[in-house]
Amino acid sequence: MEVVRFILEVFAVAAFRTMELLTILNRCHHFRGFVYQHARFSADKKSIEVAVRSRQGSAAVCSRCHQSAPGYDQLGERRFEFIPLWGFFVFLLYAMRRVDCHRCGAVVVEEVPWGDGKRTLTKAYMLFLARWARRLSWKETAAAFRTSWDKVFDAVEHVVNFGLEHRTLGPIDAIGVDEIQYAKGHKYLTLVYQIDLGMTRLLWVGKDRTIESFQGFFATIGEELASQIVFVCSDMWEPYLKVIREKCSEALHILDRFHIVAKMNQALDEVRAEESRRMHREGRLPVLKKSRWLLLKREENLADEQRFRLRDLLRYNLKTVRAYLLKEAFQQLWDYNAAAWAGKFLDEWCRQTMRSRIEPMKKIARSLRQHRGLILNYFRAQKLISSGVVEGLNNKAKVTMRKSYGFRTFRVLEMALYHSLGKLPEPEATHEFF
Ligand SMILES: [Zn+2]
Repeated sequence: MEVVRFILEVFAVAAFRTMELLTILNRCHHFRGFVYQHARFSADKKSIEVAVRSRQGSAAVCSRCHQSAPGYDQLGERRFEFIPLWGFFVFLLYAMRRVDCHRCGAVVVEEVPWGDGKRTLTKAYMLFLARWARRLSWKETAAAFRTSWDKVFDAVEHVVNFGLEHRTLGPIDAIGVDEIQYAKGHKYLTLVYQIDLGMTRLLWVGKDRTIESFQGFFATIGEELASQIVFVCSDMWEPYLKVIREKCSEALHILDRFHIVAKMNQALDEVRAEESRRMHREGRLPVLKKSRWLLLKREENLADEQRFRLRDLLRYNLKTVRAYLLKEAFQQLWDYNAAAWAGKFLDEWCRQTMRSRIEPMKKIARSLRQHRGLILNYFRAQKLISSGVVEGLNNKAKVTMRKSYGFRTFRVLEMALYHSLGKLPEPEATHEFF
């Protein structure tokens, strides 16, 4: 018995001794045609450096045409950053070869399977960082792995580019288009979402909210997919309406409920602000002071104390109160099932509002009349696409913008939004690093 145990222990020690770093690397990050030579500490003992060389007799691959090609020369050693291990940075050291590629008719740097072009991070590390960057902000990710914001950006960009190249776009039944402001001074993004019942994701990010920017989406998906879209959901922004009429003439176009409510709230807020200022000028009792949220929130969402204040306020004969009552009455529209009844209600509401002598509300009524058909499409389609999806996605987009920024440029936001909302396929990995 003692002897058996002794033999087992000897084997265990031997197995442990062979469990070297290179063994682990070969297990999780192995590439044909390349061998790990040796591992050592850097001079400052903060990093582990692993030397890599090409296997004897294996030809290099041209990075332009991805075919093997005869060697030309070898460049100086490059460092590729790998996933850190137990508090040490890990670098793969490799001297890139150049090939004399006859297909490309040029001397080209070789392609290595663990790296991507000129980036300094290995693909494995980029995928690792990019996954964390979806859970944490980019700044937090950089801090957690003691790297820089730029490298996190690089990692996300690499993963997103792969995803955009490899995603399957169609079929697309329903899309929603929306704008989002990302900086002061009318800096907007146009976001197009797929809002099918079984599939919601961000399909496209465009700069600005012009006709040209939205047309960019249709250029991306191509005519065939565009012609198969059955529902389009949008707000009342005229450039969007125009592009939809042009590119999806067969689709049922629905005005998004959320946007209509938002417009109405804006109008009410305008009435309140103007009246409040006037009352102040005329030295009247400031009954509208701090009433903004009382009026904008739905009554059922108010706290008890706020509800009492609202009831109190509604006793006054004010323009603001009349505008509020019109806005609240309008909510009933969404309870209809049939477009015909909803249409009757809408017409009656607009008629009353046009007689209200409250200009911002009259403006809403005129706009609703003008888009009557599109609004009623909501009732024709409400059982087929989930309303509120666009609003939900847009809220997520806003959270993403807050989390990712460091530099709030279009490129950064574009990458961040695709990364968190695009449901993009990820590059394949040699191992599940966690
Ligand atoms: Zn080539």
